[in-house]
Amino acid sequence: MILAPYAARPEHSRGRRYSEPPPGTRTEYQRDRDRIIHSTAFRRLEYKTQVFVNHEGDLFRTRLTHSLEVAQIARTLARNLSLNEDLCEAIALAHDLGHTPFGHAGQDALHACLRAYGGFEHNAQSLRVVDELEDKYADFRGLNLTFETREGILKHCSLRRARTLGEIGERFLKRHQPGLEAQVANLADEIAYNNHDIDDGARAGLLDLEQLQSVPLVARQLRSVDKTYQRLSSKQRRHETVRRLINVLVTDLTETSRAHLARTRPESIDDVRRLKQPLIAFSAERRAEATALKRFLYEHLYRHPRVYRMTVKAQQVVQELFAAFFDKPRLMPPEHFEIAVAAEKTNGKHGRARTVADFIAGMTDRYALDEHERLFDPRRLR
Ligand code: MG
Repeated sequence: MILAPYAARPEHSRGRRYSEPPPGTRTEYQRDRDRIIHSTAFRRLEYKTQVFVNHEGDLFRTRLTHSLEVAQIARTLARNLSLNEDLCEAIALAHDLGHTPFGHAGQDALHACLRAYGGFEHNAQSLRVVDELEDKYADFRGLNLTFETREGILKHCSLRRARTLGEIGERFLKRHQPGLEAQVANLADEIAYNNHDIDDGARAGLLDLEQLQSVPLVARQLRSVDKTYQRLSSKQRRHETVRRLINVLVTDLTETSRAHLARTRPESIDDVRRLKQPLIAFSAERRAEATALKRFLYEHLYRHPRVYRMTVKAQQVVQELFAAFFDKPRLMPPEHFEIAVAAEKTNGKHGRARTVADFIAGMTDRYALDEHERLFDPRRLR
């Protein structure tokens, strides 16, 4: 695979926080990907909510299968654009490592709990997981990933937090772009969730494909499926529609980005970083249509009464866990209690709050539900 001049090159990486001997038979970005797959946080993704809570059904996407779908789309785009496929894959697999249990409901609840202590941002938490919280290497804390993977993981960040993050936060202050592999992973995420949420929403019976006739991007694919096939099961019709939709978006993103690259002609990843706008982008028409689809999903799926009821319950669990652990840190397992005591010595209440947030954010859905029951149901002995 020949890399374009603007692709990330492992031999020109800005490096790791702690220097290490070269990886031998792998490239630096392959090593990053492998470390991510072997991390504890990665295995937890299997039991974390994407939209549907894990115990609602076995076939819905979880954070893990979502991350695999993002990686698949990102790798296709990387090949189309002669970018570094290993780096795209590493970023995609790690992008949701910092997500709380119960998806966005959990993250909003934890953010509210931490309002007085700097808030909770899931992108910043993903970086915190790979920089600090994974704890199994003898020579360093975290996974000691390369700058480029970490840059891709930190997709968004408030300016206040960016100021505390050193080199990795600088681009937010300077309004620079991340490398193209990070830009690809970001949009692969959007393509993945827009499409699998249609599939999961319809499978759950919360969305009806006919409703989606009001979204032009989907309506066109439905028409093309119905024109070609007359006797499809609803499952086949849904899948034929979604696969066309993914293809349309990936094709548009490839062609539009190729045109931007041909016009701008960056000669290195640093040329890309200095630009005011990202080069990986949808055409204006597809951008508007994809945004309309997002809006549709927001109104009809994410705020569907059944999803909403689960959202409220999940928020309550997270809030009650936080309040209990913050008030009495000794309720946490001993290793977390010890970290809380040490963090409070250096950082006061902020340190304690952050330790509790790290503990809760690391929980899977079922661990959080079980822990909630253990704490609040006096009939439970342990
Ligand atoms: Mg995601």
